Amino acid sequence: MQTAKIHSVETLGALDGPGIRYVLFLHGCPFRCKFCHNPDTWKSGGFKTVSSSEIFEDVAKYADFFKFSKGGFTASGGEPLMQKKFLIELFGRLKSIGVETAVDTCGYADIDEDTEELASLTDLFMLDIKHLDPDTHLRLTGKPNDKVFNFLNFISAKGKRIWIRIVLLEGLSATPEYIKKISAFLKNYKIEKIELLPYHNMGEKKWEELGLKYELKDAKTPDRGKVAALAKILEDDGYVVSFQ
Ligand code: SF4
Repeated sequence: MQTAKIHSVETLGALDGPGIRYVLFLHGCPFRCKFCHNPDTWKSGGFKTVSSSEIFEDVAKYADFFKFSKGGFTASGGEPLMQKKFLIELFGRLKSIGVETAVDTCGYADIDEDTEELASLTDLFMLDIKHLDPDTHLRLTGKPNDKVFNFLNFISAKGKRIWIRIVLLEGLSATPEYIKKISAFLKNYKIEKIELLPYHNMGEKKWEELGLKYELKDAKTPDRGKVAALAKILEDDGYVVSFQ
């Protein structure tokens, strides 16, 4: 029986995929995004250990509800692809009772046998593109972005449903130039939806509690008018877009 280190569970989530969802936030992440809301998933401790059966039995209680709302189960984090064997076991059981499965990921994963198997059990991937520019990506996350694009190529070649998530940061990604660039880049793929996530400083308190320096203290949240204008650029290019 596989077990996982988890951060938390949300049983009636509406933000992490279609419909009403059971969202499991897994512990651990290879990135150190400067805007992270869940830096507590980076700690070496502070997680809860659960078995795949425990989570399966809990999710199964909501199966009819998911069908009614066209929802399902989302593995989020942290970075769920750090615990692939657990997800393979869980997703296999969820698929057997007709629960739709999604993975919300930063895409920083090796393409190995486990990734192949998990992809075969996953209906939807929600992939964050933190930044197209390699240096900016490295600066924002602490890791290069080449693996992320390999992962995008992999799920695209598998014909998976793909949502792309873009954090809008003033001066870096919340600009018409950047949005046009990412729009042109994504034309190479079949993207079901793009979600624009305006930066906000909700995670700042957690950084302080963990004794970490929050470098984006002075960063501003792009206003709604600006976000709508950026969304319009993508819509005009034929994408389905949502934003908060
Ligand atoms: S990928 Fe997500 S969980 Fe990981 S550091 Fe970045 S924002 Fe935080």
